[in-house]
Order: sequence, then C-alpha cells, then structure tokens
Amino acid sequence: LRGLSECIFCKIVRGEADAYIVYRGHGVTAFLDKFPVSKGHLLVVPDEHYESIHDTPLAKACRVWAVASAIAKYYRVKLGAPGVNLLTNSGSYAGQVIFHFHVHVIPRWGPMRGFFAGRHSLTEEEAREVMGMLEGVGSFVEEELAREGCT
Ligand SMILES: [Zn+2]
Repeated sequence: LRGLSECIFCKIVRGEADAYIVYRGHGVTAFLDKFPVSKGHLLVVPDEHYESIHDTPLAKACRVWAVASAIAKYYRVKLGAPGVNLLTNSGSYAGQVIFHFHVHVIPRWGPMRGFFAGRHSLTEEEAREVMGMLEGVGSFVEEELAREGCT
C-alpha cells in the first residue's frame, strides 16, 4: 500500500490536487471523474482515507451513499436524465483502480451501449458545462439529507 500522502483522492480532499469539486459537506466530497463514461460522471468519497467499502465504517459509507443518492436524484428529477448508475468497486478483481473508497454516480442520457462505452478524458469545456448543470446541487443535497439522509 502506498502512503496516504500519495493517495490522489486524499490530495483532492485536501486541496492539493486539482479537481472539479461538485459538493463538500458531511465529511464527504464529490468531484468530477477525470475519465467520465458519460457527461456528469462523478465520484463521491469520504474525506478520510478508507481503502474500500469493506473497511469503511458503516455510518461513513451511509453518508457517502446518501450524498451519491441525492446527486443521482438531482440528475433524474432536476436534469431529466432517464437513467443513473450508482456503483462502487471493492478490490482490483472488481475493477477498483484508486484504493480510496468511492461511489460512482453515472447519469445516462441515452441507452447504455456498454458500461464503459464512451470513456474519455474530461476536457475543461465539458467540465465547465457539467459544473453549470450542477449549480444547484449543493443546496439540493443539503435538503435531501436534512429530510431523510443518514446523519
Ligand atoms: Zn485516500
């Protein structure tokens, strides 16, 4: 295992690595995936370092899932995405690449051709467009969690 100082997600949480931050709160950070499979593909992570879902305390995992669920709802209800995937990978055999627990939120704007079909490098232009789409997501997440989220 590499030290936490080397973990890219820890660096993003600490503000030491660049990312488009979508939401911060409740000990959770959400930011755009650098290699999205769809427009708006983002990751939700706990601010503390846990390798995967298998060693994340349940209360913390619950908050991560609550934020991910609220963002998924934002995509469907507010932005009209006809589908959204929520996904976490535990272990390299399951496709985990970054060993800091994270939940993928992947809005689907049309029929899925294959899970990773369309994967590409995030451009600044696309990131700006998505950040614009997500302008109201922070307050939406806060409202959702206040009403029925894990605390
Ligand atoms: Zn980390």
